[in-house]
Amino acid sequence: MANAHQYRISPINPAAHIYEVTVTVAKPDSAGQEFAMPAWIPGSYMIRDYAKHVIAVRAESDGREVALEKLDKSRWRAAATSRALTLTLEIYAHDESVRGAHLDATHGFFNGTCVFPAVVGQESQRCVVEIVAPDAPHGKNWRVATSMRRDGAAEYGFGIYTAADYAELIDHPVECSALSIGEFEVGGIPHAIAIRGKTRVDMARLCRDLQRVCEQQVSFLGAPGDLDRYLFLLNAPGSGYGGLEHRWSSALICGRENLPARGDEGISDEYRTFLGLVSHEYFHLWNVKRMKPAAFTPYDLSQETHTGLLWVYEGITSYYDDLALVRSGMISVESYLELLGQTATRVLRSAGRRRQSVQESSFDAWTKFYKQDANATNAIVSYYAKGALIALCLDLKLRKETAGSVALDDVMHAAWQRWGESGEGMPEDGFEKLCIELSGLDLQDFFNATVRGTGELPLDALLKSHGVDFALRRSAGATDKGGKNADDGTLPQVWLGAILAARNGKTIFVSVDNDGPAELAGVSPGDELVALDGLRIDIASCEKRTRRYRPRDKSTLTVFRGDELIELRLKWQEAPVDTCYLVSAAETDDDMAARRSAWLGQ
Ligand SMILES: [Zn+2]
Repeated sequence: MANAHQYRISPINPAAHIYEVTVTVAKPDSAGQEFAMPAWIPGSYMIRDYAKHVIAVRAESDGREVALEKLDKSRWRAAATSRALTLTLEIYAHDESVRGAHLDATHGFFNGTCVFPAVVGQESQRCVVEIVAPDAPHGKNWRVATSMRRDGAAEYGFGIYTAADYAELIDHPVECSALSIGEFEVGGIPHAIAIRGKTRVDMARLCRDLQRVCEQQVSFLGAPGDLDRYLFLLNAPGSGYGGLEHRWSSALICGRENLPARGDEGISDEYRTFLGLVSHEYFHLWNVKRMKPAAFTPYDLSQETHTGLLWVYEGITSYYDDLALVRSGMISVESYLELLGQTATRVLRSAGRRRQSVQESSFDAWTKFYKQDANATNAIVSYYAKGALIALCLDLKLRKETAGSVALDDVMHAAWQRWGESGEGMPEDGFEKLCIELSGLDLQDFFNATVRGTGELPLDALLKSHGVDFALRRSAGATDKGGKNADDGTLPQVWLGAILAARNGKTIFVSVDNDGPAELAGVSPGDELVALDGLRIDIASCEKRTRRYRPRDKSTLTVFRGDELIELRLKWQEAPVDTCYLVSAAETDDDMAARRSAWLGQ
């Protein structure tokens, strides 16, 4: 393996958030070796131009400096040399997200996309990485957590690691800090969770719960042949939420108080959300990390890569994440129906579902879903939330119309065999064709309407056939996420048709619904709400005051637009019935009950 690329990452200046990275190429391109930094990270579909954080770069060979030419925003070319060539970069790392790189005196975290340049033309070479400990006094109790294979480093230690090629190198995020680590097994495969941050978590319980979730997923699709270890990297700050999937690991962020402490029993709503996140990222190890769209095979990390299939990879994963919780018995059917009701509520509250299909949302994720502005609620639909509901509808429709002989589970099995184990990319029409082929049903109209259309989904009838009633009500207010029947007769009768948020002590319209009362009155996103009917109003008093109005009542809104005070005339409208909750039907026949238990496993 003399030709393996030798990478080295060193936290040279934690106070200034700077890593030094070197890569030594044994046999550089005789025409001049090119190096490139990725413009994006797989799993997060937005151009991030990681090269912008490179603050210094130089090349040398045989102890002599080699000229470097910058070719574009992300690429450099070194002058031709016949000897080993070393590129050295200094990289600023102050992004705490799961997509970034971060370094300070308390820890280091990085994704390979942020720190390791590709050796262009030699990406298939093996990579050896030395992860260097910071100089004292930093890093005294630090350990290293990564799914990268050790090649001399002690377990959880600094030292030498290795990856089969560049694609694998950038698929192993690394966390270095005073970690809390828990270990467990799933089907004989070692799994671990490494937590950064001060936490009072009950590690034994956390491991038991994660094991149960992972076992459910493994029992569904079977462990991939190359899954010989798995690591959850969890950053647990005061607040935050997010995750990014990788082939042998995932990087998660979750508020530390959402994790179970010693002595806690039961599953709080927040912990249920965390378990859903774990389940989601773990399911991705099949769905998108190994089975992926043809457009991602291989990834082109230099530019946007469009596919209309993100609803399959994120929507179906969003469907199976919570489904695994109920199927494993971790949560009750009622709890699961609450989660489904919340997902339906999110979709119903975004008028953008009438403008954009999930296929379009997938394709334009780069510039729309990942770059949401104040008009997002009117213009776009989430391929996660609506994608999960399409998966639900598809599952129930298959079960119903094939009398239980084909379910979405069977489609996923067949998809995994066709595109997962082989590593061949899924064509854009592959998933729909597979559903039709397996079920023998004519599903073209269903896919045209749900995937490419913008009408309402047939949730009501399909859920009913599985013994679940679909119900709608008005919203109780800004904190009402749906999922529960909260109609005690005091729900507000009118709505403003806008979302308000407190910012720097001001009450700001962050979004305004098309054709809602606020928009018809002339409110723009960004306006500051000062008074309602001549009385000062803030976010805390707004909901209470709103309850006093009835449809067609008139009010005066006083707002600042920039520094100009404006008075607007508002006519209240009846609040929409946009909040969904699902309940087990009071009356079910045996068929319905059998279908429901085959679906939910309870
Ligand atoms: Zn996802």
